[in-house]
Amino acid sequence: MPTPALYHYLLIAWFALSLVVFVVLLFVAAPYGRHTRRGWGPTIPGKLGWVAMEAPASLAFALFFLLGALVARPPGLVALVFFALWQVHYVDRAFLFPLRQRGPGRPIPLLIALFAVVFNLGNAYMNGHWLGALSPIYPAGWLIDPRFLIGLGLFAAGFVLNRRADAVLARLRAGGQTGYRVPMSRMHALVSCPNYLGEIIEWGGWALATWSLAGLAFFVWTAANLVPRAIAHHRWYLNEFPDYPRERKALIPFLL
Ligand code: NDP
Repeated sequence: MPTPALYHYLLIAWFALSLVVFVVLLFVAAPYGRHTRRGWGPTIPGKLGWVAMEAPASLAFALFFLLGALVARPPGLVALVFFALWQVHYVDRAFLFPLRQRGPGRPIPLLIALFAVVFNLGNAYMNGHWLGALSPIYPAGWLIDPRFLIGLGLFAAGFVLNRRADAVLARLRAGGQTGYRVPMSRMHALVSCPNYLGEIIEWGGWALATWSLAGLAFFVWTAANLVPRAIAHHRWYLNEFPDYPRERKALIPFLL
């Protein structure tokens, strides 16, 4: 197992990489979904690609966490709660989300899928290894610490917002349609991408509840991925739909 010192160097590099990715994504929208375009090499089928991209986040996290339990120390109650939260998100994201999407899903460039796998493996390592082997043992009293309780509340609220907003989008394709429509739900009244807002809130809650740099790194990475993508989606809506609601923002109500 890597030493804690090596882990911390990797974590610093991981933070630095998220900033690079953020800047790149501000100028180059990741070419999947509505931003798919030619010139990004071979593609893989949408739903299969989604499972292949996201399953490593669930499986690798479980592996690193359990390795810690086997080699370093038994997991405490609080670490097991974090394990469960992670898996609730990622089992759903990797295996159930693709089933809920209507139609076959747009093909995903292999290169993008590989980037996603690398991100998910790195993120699973940072968080799973931290919680399984390196973090100070959380006392059971952490479960009533305000940081945990507020973090858990944010995680749950973000999860619900993200899933409900994704469900609204899936329903726009009811009846076999394949194109895009303007989402008009209450969640979409203020922002174009409430699903991304929910995801960012969720991992902000994780960072607070775990009170860890690994959790903070995941939050920063999520924002680095999704803030530029929300801006790109919002611009795309404005270009595609002349009657798109002008008061709607991209991601943060009234602000961005
Ligand atoms: P999008 O909002 O781009 O799309 C979600 C689904 O809804 C896709 O199937 C998309 O189809 C469809 N859709 C979107 N808008 C419309 C519309 N106006 N009309 C009809 N259908 C629509 O989300 P992503 O695909 O980028 O992400 C999916 C989930 O994964 C989200 O919950 C997101 O938060 C999460 N995610 C998390 C990341 C992280 O870093 N933690 C990174 C990326 C995603 P199509 O594919 O054809 O566009």
